[in-house]
Amino acid sequence: MKRKVGDYSKFVNHPRYGRGPRFTDVRPREKPLGYRLTTYISDGTIGGTAVEADLDRQIPSPVPVLYYFDLTRVCVECHRPFIFFAEEQKYWYESLGFVLDADCIRCVECRRLQQGLDRRRQRYEELFRREERSAEENLEMAECCLDLVEGGVFHGRHTERVRMLLNKFPQNQGDAVARRIRDLRDRLPLIEAGRSGHDVQET
Ligand SMILES: [Zn+2]
Repeated sequence: MKRKVGDYSKFVNHPRYGRGPRFTDVRPREKPLGYRLTTYISDGTIGGTAVEADLDRQIPSPVPVLYYFDLTRVCVECHRPFIFFAEEQKYWYESLGFVLDADCIRCVECRRLQQGLDRRRQRYEELFRREERSAEENLEMAECCLDLVEGGVFHGRHTERVRMLLNKFPQNQGDAVARRIRDLRDRLPLIEAGRSGHDVQET
């Protein structure tokens, strides 16, 4: 595979690996029988980016993979191009124990957003199940709920729950709490206005 100089200026920047390919001096050896030179998901391979696999650490598979290459991908969430770096693959398949055909479908920014939303959802559900909540917990629950509506995880009508939670608060609140309540109240109409046209995922 030849090293190709491409334009990666529109690619999502990875805080650790950057935007463009990471060229290496690794020259893949001849492939022995029963091995693959690169992963099962190797479409979009960028030549000259090989990183050698550690077969002892790789999750066992019928056909082990000798090298990882940087792969170009398009994010399913934001539709921007990004690179699934060889070093990330090494981490996935050798440290996290992912199977070799596990592909990366979201860019790093959308993955982080997703993880943040997963945590918000867990926290929301935890608070939701409590029989009694403090005022602070009600406020936190309202914030989680609105984040989840904005993130498209909760249906738009969950804004009603946010309003319900906010209505539990008496008028005279301390500065910090009053600011958080005001912030939520400001965000609500924007979300409700945007909701009439298109529905998000039902939860
Ligand atoms: Zn993305």
